[in-house]
Amino acid sequence: MTDHQDIAVLHWQSTLLQTIDAGLVVLDHDYNVQIWNAFMENHSGFGYADVEGKSIFELIQDVPEDWLRRKLETVTTLKSRAFSSWEQRPYLIRFDTYRPITGVADCMYQNVTFLPIMALNGMVEQIGIIIYDMTDVAVSKQAFTRANEELAKLSRTDRLTGLANRGFWEECMVQEFKRAKRAGHPCSLIMFDIDHFKKINDTFGHQCGDEVIRQTAACLGDCMRSTDIAGRYGGEEYAVILIDTDCDGALFVAERIRETLQALAVEHDGQEVRFTVSLGVAEVTEQMVAHDQLIEAADRALYEAKKAGRNNAKVAARAGAHVAA
Ligand code: GH3
Ligand code: MG
Ligand code: MG
Repeated sequence: MTDHQDIAVLHWQSTLLQTIDAGLVVLDHDYNVQIWNAFMENHSGFGYADVEGKSIFELIQDVPEDWLRRKLETVTTLKSRAFSSWEQRPYLIRFDTYRPITGVADCMYQNVTFLPIMALNGMVEQIGIIIYDMTDVAVSKQAFTRANEELAKLSRTDRLTGLANRGFWEECMVQEFKRAKRAGHPCSLIMFDIDHFKKINDTFGHQCGDEVIRQTAACLGDCMRSTDIAGRYGGEEYAVILIDTDCDGALFVAERIRETLQALAVEHDGQEVRFTVSLGVAEVTEQMVAHDQLIEAADRALYEAKKAGRNNAKVAARAGAHVAA
């Protein structure tokens, strides 16, 4: 090749190096910077003159030095490429980005390739580092994950009350039943139903009925522990799983729910709507093998509470249909 050709090749290579939309860094065998392209200058704020001959460890602040040293040594000794993905490590060198629309990313997410550059004698004399901007991918993946979480939450939640819906509540019930059986810890269930709810709908209208259902759910939160799981079991039926609670404790909570709701006055069109609930309580017993037996027991106790005149709580007897107050 003539000198002229050499210069021409060098010229287009350096033009490519400068304009490519990725960071290019070349290190010598002591890990000092030899090449730092325009992408690196623009994003880091350091010109080539600022970094020339400097150790890469001086320039990289946020990444543990031993991690980076291990990567570089692997490249040198194995003579093979190494990678770092934004999902494992968001970036190699922190570059700020402005994303005014999403406001999600405040730094550039990077995929990084480390590659050995071999001399004619086959030894690795230099290491090339290529940095790709993965911010768009990272931002859309984060948005996708958030949307999925939101969707999952919606699919578990009852729209009117914000409580767990029947399906999700029952999934929780299955888990808690198994946990209680396995650990031998007590676990109880309260099921309750609003008394004469049809009359509320008929007298005040369906919207007022909805408001009663909503406020009943809101009151529940004040009556139970944060570990308890409340769900809307049906129209105006609710179910609460009480973890680590035997039926005496559950009856106590049931009474509290009953009294709180009895004292509640729901405002509708300038009128006060008052109502009561009947509750059934059951505890996981040794004989039970499946969660629906617990639900049946609580439901039977609720039926007994209705039969006994409503506005009261009944506990399911441990074995069979006998119900005690
Ligand atoms: P009881 O004391 O025996 O429970 O009498 P009740 O009138 O409450 O009887 P029941 O539980 O059978 O009635 C439930 C009624 O609740 C029937 C249905 O029209 C109404 N309902 C169910 N879901 C909703 C809802 O989401 N909103 C409103 N407003 N009403 C509902
Ligand atoms: Mg009902
Ligand atoms: Mg009812």
